[in-house]
Amino acid sequence: MTRTVYVNGDYLPETEATVSIFDRGFLMADGVYEVTSVLGGKLIDFDGHAVRLQRSLDELEMRSPISKEDLLEVHRELLRVNEIDEGMIYLQITRGAPGDRDFVFPDPETTTPTIVLFTQNKPGLANSPAAQKGMKVISIDDIRWGRRDIKTVQLLYPSMGKMMAKKAGADDAWMIEDGYVTEGTSNNAYIVKGNKIITRALSNDILHGITRAAVLRFAQEAQMEVEERNFTIDEAKKADEAFITSASTFVMPVVEIDGVALGEGVPGRVAPRLREIYLEESLKAAV
Ligand code: PMP
Repeated sequence: MTRTVYVNGDYLPETEATVSIFDRGFLMADGVYEVTSVLGGKLIDFDGHAVRLQRSLDELEMRSPISKEDLLEVHRELLRVNEIDEGMIYLQITRGAPGDRDFVFPDPETTTPTIVLFTQNKPGLANSPAAQKGMKVISIDDIRWGRRDIKTVQLLYPSMGKMMAKKAGADDAWMIEDGYVTEGTSNNAYIVKGNKIITRALSNDILHGITRAAVLRFAQEAQMEVEERNFTIDEAKKADEAFITSASTFVMPVVEIDGVALGEGVPGRVAPRLREIYLEESLKAAV
């Protein structure tokens, strides 16, 4: 089945969908994105993603080309025509294609944003074997820009980080700045000590994960203690457990950091329990 995608108001076969070579997303990474997961044919935390999208656009003084209501309709239509039960929807909005290359932002009256959405079919996403096994991470320097709270498509360094991990036989990289872990290449990072979940506080240094917000809320509801503070990679290596969260991995245990096994080197008690709660609760609220 040829995938149907959405480009600037049209539903098209992926082979017929095009964007201009002058698009500022292509030339300057001048664009923002969201990834929303799909379980049971429904969208997980659509509202959270829509709110963060608007914030990213506002921070970059970019206009939204679509209302929240229409955006939900586009998501639903893409799920329907592509028959997606489990997977993700990728959404990207750029500052558009002014017809030439210039550092100065184009006039929003004459250059309208480009909007693209496509589905990714991932049967078995919720029952991932990686969640049973846990993942291995390495640590790398965080050399990204200072506005990581804006979800831009400027993903070259995270992509290089993923490759460094792959070459080292690991699954992902945690990034370190001034001695402290910021986040994973495409996820938020956590450690567990006793009954306490420790994760970096929100600031411009990290992406404000939609999954992070939900997981911390569920953890507190389940009487787990949450501490939002910086932690070092050495503290992480001595932790009882570690895990990551993101829209596409939900909650995923980390069992090894820089070759050091955590605890028994297998997923502990807290991360798998949080994954269970997260999947159960977010499915209930899916739209
Ligand atoms: N941090 C970074 C750098 C990310 O790219 C992502 C996922 N896009 C996250 C954290 C997790 O955010 P979310 O839970 O909203 O997917």
